[in-house]
Amino acid sequence: MDKTKTLANGLQMPRLGLGVWRVEDSEAEKAVGWALEAGYRMIDTAMVYKNEKGVGEGIRHSSVPREDIFVTTKLWNDDQGYESALKAFDASLERLGLDYVDLYLIHWPVAGKYKDSWRALEEIYASGRAKAIGVSNFHQHHLEDLMTSATIKPMVDQIEIHPTLTQEPLRAYLASESIAVEAWSPLGQGKILETPTLIEIGKKYGKSAAQVIIRWHLQNDIIVIPKSSHEGRIKENFDVTDFELTPEEIQQINALNIDERLGSNPDSFD
Ligand code: NAD
Repeated sequence: MDKTKTLANGLQMPRLGLGVWRVEDSEAEKAVGWALEAGYRMIDTAMVYKNEKGVGEGIRHSSVPREDIFVTTKLWNDDQGYESALKAFDASLERLGLDYVDLYLIHWPVAGKYKDSWRALEEIYASGRAKAIGVSNFHQHHLEDLMTSATIKPMVDQIEIHPTLTQEPLRAYLASESIAVEAWSPLGQGKILETPTLIEIGKKYGKSAAQVIIRWHLQNDIIVIPKSSHEGRIKENFDVTDFELTPEEIQQINALNIDERLGSNPDSFD
């Protein structure tokens, strides 16, 4: 399997990255440094995580060139709207200390605002300061609505996916629209790592439940951003290229789906 997924505009996006939600700004530099050392080339942050500064420092202090690292950040809900999105993007770049990001996402589909926000993202994309643009937490109906006014189709939709929320209908729709699927809370926030099926499958390969889940995402063509701020786990989560789940094992993991969200439903978030 290729290490990168080709987005609709041709940009190569690493399939496995580090998520940094709930990582303190002061810890983010270290976590990013460990990740880059372990071989990660993609980091997922957001304005609302309040750690863009630490992420930027981690990138600058590593020996990996900026152009080899794929950086995602996101537009927070309070900043939605055309002018405010443009300003928020500038502020994110400033905190990151970067002159471009690789991917800029609308974090949630704020009703009545996301179309104006998208116009701003299209402009940012045209200026070259975001190499790709996309959305997060958009259902099919949000995307269909957005596309009535968009001139550029989102390249990515980052949504909650894990073995207990597999989102197969939305994934099929996104695939049919050539929108790359990216999973947040891919490990179910660590709450599903004791699941016997995952542990049993892992035993066969000498791998942990976390590694089995990451492999399940990758083999399903899902871009994945497991979070950890521990060096050992950061390494462990990247060590997933030396085994392959069988189609039967993929089916067994699919069967763990109970359509249960850990986060908000995009139709009823605050
Ligand atoms: P996750 O599913 O990645 O789980 C992370 C937790 O799992 C860790 O805090 C730790 O407790 C545990 N863990 C990680 N690796 C482990 C290992 N090897 N062994 C044992 N335990 C391990 O949860 P997440 O942080 O919610 O999601 C990942 C990333 O997705 C976030 O950091 C963020 O970047 C992104 N995210 C985006 C949105 C959105 O609305 N777009 C929402 C939530 C998260």
